[in-house]
Amino acid sequence: MYDAASLKAEEFISDEEIKETLSFADANKENTALIDKILEKARQRKGLDHREASVLLACEIPEKIQEMFALAEQIKKDYYGNRIVLFAPLYLSNYCVNGCVYCPYHLKNKHIARKKLTQEEIRKEVTALQDMGHKRLAIEAGEDPVNNPIEYILESIRTIYSIKHKNGAIRRVNVNIAATTVENYRKLKEAEIGTYILFQETYHKESYEKLHPTGPKHDYAYHTEAMDRAMEGGIDDVGLGVLFGLEMYRYEFAGLLMHAEHLEAVHGVGPHTISVPRVKRADDIDPSAFDNGISDDIFAKICALIRISVPYTGMIISTRESQAVRERVLPLGVSQISGASRTSVGGYADEEDEEVTSAQFDVSDRRSLDEVVNWLMKLGYLPSFCTACYREGRTGDRFMSLCKNMQILNCCHPNALMTLKEYLEDYANEETRKIGMELIERELEKIPNPKVKKTAYEHIHDISEGRRDFRF
Ligand code: SAM
Repeated sequence: MYDAASLKAEEFISDEEIKETLSFADANKENTALIDKILEKARQRKGLDHREASVLLACEIPEKIQEMFALAEQIKKDYYGNRIVLFAPLYLSNYCVNGCVYCPYHLKNKHIARKKLTQEEIRKEVTALQDMGHKRLAIEAGEDPVNNPIEYILESIRTIYSIKHKNGAIRRVNVNIAATTVENYRKLKEAEIGTYILFQETYHKESYEKLHPTGPKHDYAYHTEAMDRAMEGGIDDVGLGVLFGLEMYRYEFAGLLMHAEHLEAVHGVGPHTISVPRVKRADDIDPSAFDNGISDDIFAKICALIRISVPYTGMIISTRESQAVRERVLPLGVSQISGASRTSVGGYADEEDEEVTSAQFDVSDRRSLDEVVNWLMKLGYLPSFCTACYREGRTGDRFMSLCKNMQILNCCHPNALMTLKEYLEDYANEETRKIGMELIERELEKIPNPKVKKTAYEHIHDISEGRRDFRF
């Protein structure tokens, strides 16, 4: 029944295979010979399959867990260096016809303020985001064919890309909207989106159907097969994720890796990113109503294991997580974080009344973008506003090969430095600017290729003179 290359949801995410995987993991969680063998495979940067990774997740031996964390840190350093890419979500509309029981946008919620941005309001939001220094957005919307049809999403993307305020520009729009048709994915591709992101929420079919009792999202197969349709429509950067807290984390973890293996088997390229959201308090949602919440320790272990299992897949942590949790998981393999996020519709241009909110969930990290940039640099990271890859056509397997050939230091690293320089020139406060300028000086020296290094020096200088948007 289980077939990674099948196009049927229940065959590539086989419940039977997951259950067998969990039994295998339980039976071997103290089998140090096998655990060492798996860790050795991961050390050779070969990645791990869902069975191997599940054994490590089940293992509770403290020294072995330490090895997993250390390895995750090493792989992160080797493939991603110290760069952390920054982005912000932009909520377009919270009209929704689904019944998702964990999401306050569900149809029956009459308390939440329903809003849909007009193109003029989008202009205001994007201007506010540009004024913070953002260059990369993830647009979010509820599923509502009448209020939020694909034409509305496409028009909004065009508006976002068209706005040029002072030196600001949104150069990459990622899209997180409900599962749709191949034809619509093709239209999104033509609109030049970056990554198409869709969280599975849960891979457990029975729970999925209970958690999505009504609306088009109820259809497990249609949702689970969405990434195949997206890829058929020409989008080759897709982002996976599960909403931790809904189902047993070990089940979800195995499902997530099986989904990644499936994309690799069918399309020859794994997911571009994996997100690891946890259920949060929201308008009429109490996270304690779900009994599968995970501790920060397990959360960190999951992040580390994703990093060693799929070394070439970016990992995203949102402001659902606090500063402290973000700080803990950053070295374990996170490559992208959001900053200064508002999860309400229109929340960047206008502060919302706390009582009648349109927000999707409470954010834990409420710092400004400048505070986040400053904090990252003080921790030794290099904040990046880079959007070069997809603009240079380096998507799907072309991006993966850059990563596999360890060309990050000759490409992503200088791009990070140049985009950070733009941020410092245009948006940073004095202290952040000072720390950043010193960081850039030091980091430029790390570029191995002398030609690239020389060009990067020149461009950094040109940015001080007012020029913008250089990329390798
Ligand atoms: N409606 C689209 C869909 O069905 O995929 C767009 C996604 S929604 C705007 C973004 C994500 O937020 C959801 O996929 C879900 O995982 C997450 N989410 C929903 N309610 C949440 C909550 N209470 N806490 C944390 N994350 C939540």
